[in-house]
Amino acid sequence: AKERGRGSVCCFDPEMDEASRDRRTLEADLRTAVADGDIKLVYQPVLSALTGEITSVEALARWSHPKKGPIPPDVFIPLAEECGLIRTLGEALLRLACSDAVWWPSSVRVAVNLSPLQFQSGDLSQTVESVLQDTGLAANRLQLEVTEGLVIRDVERTFMELERLRALGIQILMDDFGVGYSSLSYFQRFPFDKVKIDKSFVDHITTSRASRAIVQAVVGLGEQLGMGIVAEGVETEEQMHALVAAGCTHLQGYLFSKPLTTIEMDERLSALHDA
Ligand code: C2E
Ligand code: CA
Ligand code: CA
Ligand code: CA
Repeated sequence: AKERGRGSVCCFDPEMDEASRDRRTLEADLRTAVADGDIKLVYQPVLSALTGEITSVEALARWSHPKKGPIPPDVFIPLAEECGLIRTLGEALLRLACSDAVWWPSSVRVAVNLSPLQFQSGDLSQTVESVLQDTGLAANRLQLEVTEGLVIRDVERTFMELERLRALGIQILMDDFGVGYSSLSYFQRFPFDKVKIDKSFVDHITTSRASRAIVQAVVGLGEQLGMGIVAEGVETEEQMHALVAAGCTHLQGYLFSKPLTTIEMDERLSALHDA
C-alpha cells in the first residue's frame, strides 16, 4: 500500500493510508520550500592531509520544516527526485553555493552534490556554465560530486556531459565510492579528479583488516590514475592516522569540523586568511 501514493494521483483515494497522506503533505511542503528558497546550504571543510589547510568546502542541503523542524537531506533529496523537483532545487543550490564561494579565498573550492537525475536534462553543462557566469565564480573553483548511480540511461550522453563540464575547468569527484555497483569501469571511461571514500569504510578502518585493505587499494588506484583520495566522515584521531598512513590526500569529518552556516564559514575562512 505504501507505493500507492506515488505518481500523479489527484483524487481522493479512500485506500490511501496515513503514511502516503503524510508523504503527500511533505511533498507539497517541499514544493513550497523550493519555490520560496527555503532550502539552505551548510558547508563542511575538506582539509589537505599534507598541510591541514582547507582546500575545499562541501555544500550540504538543509531544510527546516516550519512545523516538523529539520528534515534530513537523505529524506528530502530522494523526495525531490521522485516528485520532479530536483532539477529546480539542484540549480538553485548550485547558484547559492557559487555565489557564497565567490567571497572565499581563491585557494578554496566549493563542492556541490549532483543528483543523477540532473544529468537527464541534457543541458546540465549549459546550466552550470551560466550559473558560473552569473555568479562570477571561476570554473576551477567548482567541484561537482557525482555518485556511482550516475548513469541511469544513456551512458554515452552522461560521459559526454562530464567531458563538457571538465573541459570548462570544473573538477569532477566520484562520491561515496565503494558502496554501489560497476564503478571501476567508470575509471576506464573518464578521468575523475578525486574519489571520495565512503564513510562506511572510514568507520571500520581501525578495526577491520578488510576496510583497511579496501582503502589502500583505492589509494593505489588514485596514485596510478592521478586522482586525489578524500576520506569522508573522519571522527577520531585514530581514523585520521590510519587514513594518512594509507595515503589519503584529503580528509573531511566531524573531527575537523561539522558543517557550518554561511556566516560561520565566512568567519572561519577570513580568520585563516588574516592569520
Ligand atoms: P554525502 O554527500 O555523502 O555527504 C556527507 C554526509 O556525511 C553529510 O550528511 C555530512 O553532514 C555527514 N558527515 C560528514 N562528516 C561526518 C562525520 O564525521 N560523522 C558523521 N556521522 N557524519 C558526517 P548530510 O548533510 O545529512 O547529507 C546526507 C546526504 O544527502 C549526502 O551524503 C548527499 O548524498 C545528500 N545531499 C546533501 N545535500 C545535497 C545536495 O545539495 N544535493 C544532492 N543531490 N544531494 C545532497
Ligand atoms: Ca557528497
Ligand atoms: Ca559522500
Ligand atoms: Ca556518504
